Amino acid sequence: MSERQALLSARQLTKRFGGLAAVHEVNVDLWPGCIHAVIGPNGAGKSTLTNLLSGDLPPTSGTITLNGQDIAGWTPEKISRHRLGRSYQKTNIFRTFTVWDNVRLAAQSRVQPSPFNPLGWLSQAARMQVVNERAERAIELAGLQNRRHTIAGAASHGEQRQLEIAMTLATEPVVLLLDEPLAGMGVMEAESMVQLLLRLKKDHAMMLVEHDIDAIFTLADHLTVMVNGQVIASDKPEVVRADRGVQAAYLGE
Ligand code: ADP
Ligand code: MG
Repeated sequence: MSERQALLSARQLTKRFGGLAAVHEVNVDLWPGCIHAVIGPNGAGKSTLTNLLSGDLPPTSGTITLNGQDIAGWTPEKISRHRLGRSYQKTNIFRTFTVWDNVRLAAQSRVQPSPFNPLGWLSQAARMQVVNERAERAIELAGLQNRRHTIAGAASHGEQRQLEIAMTLATEPVVLLLDEPLAGMGVMEAESMVQLLLRLKKDHAMMLVEHDIDAIFTLADHLTVMVNGQVIASDKPEVVRADRGVQAAYLGE
């Protein structure tokens, strides 16, 4: 995989909170068409790493390149305009709006008139058409065709997680960062999320932070293990699984 050009690369990425290095000199590459899973015990630094890559937290040191551009220190909005999308664990969902309106609003956020946005120059009607087309694609990709008119707050937990992903897809990302998309799901919900992630894999470079080991070995092309802010292994999943240090530190096998 390493011979392919990575879409997103972080080098020696470090985030300190006071005396604590939540992320310490971490290297990560995300390749198109690949799922790079990140596992590790609670407090390992997985969410902090996600927040650094999305621009929600500024790094203390290190570099992040997206499509060849150094994005360390960019705002989340600017990074998102450069087609990196992340999910925010339901916090962005308007619970009293329908599924469709939530996805449409997410699509609209990217098609606002703005000097940065080529679509911003379109007429209002043309912009609305683009918004509707993007929302429709995202709804279908996320498997929510039959839930368009459901009030988001009344949707099941699994559907709300799908909605969160649909809202991210509506911004048309090429890099996707997903923090524990299977958290709290039952067996059936988890299975449909795994199918959704497999559908997304083809057209995205993905980082998947996840605890569900079975899902990881089904989905991941590359697996990184973090402990105490540091990467202790990063390789093909079957190689990582056979690593005795990883077994002792995390997998408990
Ligand atoms: P994970 O997602 O792997 O469970 P986190 O990235 O959430 O781990 O946390 C890594 C470490 O950084 C933990 O010790 C956590 O308490 C600490 N941490 C995370 N965010 C902050 C913050 N904003 N301020 C201070 N410490 C933080
Ligand atoms: Mg976390």
